[in-house]
Amino acid sequence: EREKKEAAEKRSSDVTPKPVACHGAYWQYEMDGHWHPFSPEGNDQMFQAYKVYISDAQNGRTASIVAGGVERIVDFQLMTQMHASTKTVRQIRIVAGVPQQWVSAPAALLTQSDHLASLYVKVLDSRLVEQVTQVLRSTGHAWDKSVPCSHMRGATIKSIHRIENFPLWHRYKARLAAMREDHTRYNISVNPVDLDLDGREGTMSSSQRVLDCGDSLAWDVDEKILLHGTSWDNANSIVMHGFDHRTCTRGMYGDGAYFAGAACKSHQYTCSKHSGKACACKSERTLIIARVALGDAYHTSFTRHGDRRAPKRRQASGNHDSVVVNPGPITGHHNPIQLHQEFVIFGQEQAYPSFIVQYVP
Ligand SMILES: [Zn+2]
Ligand SMILES: [Zn+2]
Repeated sequence: EREKKEAAEKRSSDVTPKPVACHGAYWQYEMDGHWHPFSPEGNDQMFQAYKVYISDAQNGRTASIVAGGVERIVDFQLMTQMHASTKTVRQIRIVAGVPQQWVSAPAALLTQSDHLASLYVKVLDSRLVEQVTQVLRSTGHAWDKSVPCSHMRGATIKSIHRIENFPLWHRYKARLAAMREDHTRYNISVNPVDLDLDGREGTMSSSQRVLDCGDSLAWDVDEKILLHGTSWDNANSIVMHGFDHRTCTRGMYGDGAYFAGAACKSHQYTCSKHSGKACACKSERTLIIARVALGDAYHTSFTRHGDRRAPKRRQASGNHDSVVVNPGPITGHHNPIQLHQEFVIFGQEQAYPSFIVQYVP
């Protein structure tokens, strides 16, 4: 009796629908060699039906979708739809709206849970490994043997993982869209920031495209690939939740999330014993390679202790989107010369953690 009950419970728990989040994903059907989007009405029904299919492939395999007064029968196993009266069959597909190089299947992305391991995908592409090695070894002052930055010269990679966090990616994309709206409203044109101002080999500039995961960086909001050094635990939190308030640092240029354009700078935040120093401890270090939307950046040559957002615009309404500090003289700093280029964002979700790199200096 008890076994029967348990078996029944197990069965019913098996069919409890998994939560499905559609975010920026949408459905398309094929006609005359082209893919077309479903109507919003049809799209909603498709996701409802797909939710059932993901939880119970047998009973949820087919569904009736009625949109615009027309009934179609979809088959999620064959990925087709059939017009209920004309019997015309067309291909259907789901577009997850994620970077080309992501390998997680749409069904996996739509049902992603808080299970950390499911967000990490090991990178084996040798071109990418080579490029990240370049970033570690030859950005900033790695060449300068007279400074601790040169510890990066011999850095070796232990692992690289691409982060495929579906909800986080779409929240990031939504943030970019909001930024564009703000720029349109206030008639802001974005001046792209120059990289490699603290280096001499142009490595960050030449790495941008290689590290974009197949999703081109948006020039209109000055999207850049930048670096964030941290501990392994913090990196896990960022992979899960993004660069939110947990990541904020009370820094010289405000309380925000800080990024570097050189690995010798991000390296300073990777040792549990020597924060702020580019040390040579042989412990495993964590570097996050992030996409950051700098947008309408504010260039500062003053420290900005305690700021909680980027400064107000002088020529237009609203606030800047980020703070950029270039190497050079700084007022208010105990060290009057800023050595490294730094980037600060205050808006949550204005950055996405593309890769987690583990390395040893
Ligand atoms: Zn340096
Ligand atoms: Zn150390």
